[in-house]
Amino acid sequence: MYQHRNLQGLPFGLPTGKVVCVGRNYLDHIQELNNAVPGEPLLFLKPATALCHAGDVISIPTNRGACHNELEVAILIGEPLSNASAEQAKSAMAGVGLALDLTLRDLQDQLKQDGHPWERAKAFDNACPVSAFAPMSEVADVQALAFSLTINGQVRQRGNTHMMMRDTVSLLVAISEVFTLVPGDIVLTGTPKGVGPLQPDDTLTLSMSPWFDIHTRVVGN
Ligand code: ZN
Repeated sequence: MYQHRNLQGLPFGLPTGKVVCVGRNYLDHIQELNNAVPGEPLLFLKPATALCHAGDVISIPTNRGACHNELEVAILIGEPLSNASAEQAKSAMAGVGLALDLTLRDLQDQLKQDGHPWERAKAFDNACPVSAFAPMSEVADVQALAFSLTINGQVRQRGNTHMMMRDTVSLLVAISEVFTLVPGDIVLTGTPKGVGPLQPDDTLTLSMSPWFDIHTRVVGN
């Protein structure tokens, strides 16, 4: 059963909530998929059943087309946020980590084309592997976090939160105007370029300096 963990691998002390994802927040990724720059944050949800630990194996569906990696900074929410001010949003952040927004890209393309919601492509079980969370007391600047994803020894995604089009606090404010965030929810802040299909037996390293390098492996299901 998934539980948020701290850097020591112990329970973080927050319940397991929903996952709020922000699409199209890094210009280089918008360009690689030929998408339009959104006027307002593009939001979608993954249920708590999508959460799993990135350090365990990454289990991907193999019978529904390509399953893409999207490495994203994840914000763990520690206080309720509804129509929040920037100050409230800032103090509601409990921790930062990394997540993979696993995406069945062929299926998502079909759903987009048909004008249908994306859940079939984004919300399946284990569609959101996450790391441990560093506490905010260790985060000097949430907009200066470097992160990367290495697949089979090659760096595929390299990002820094200073590249976000909308910064973390603005995202939390905007999300809290749409629905309430509660303690234990996590917010995925968008992916930089370098998304692509994962294959069974790929070896992955999710890195976030100075806190962790998570070595893991893809299996098909
Ligand atoms: Zn994403």
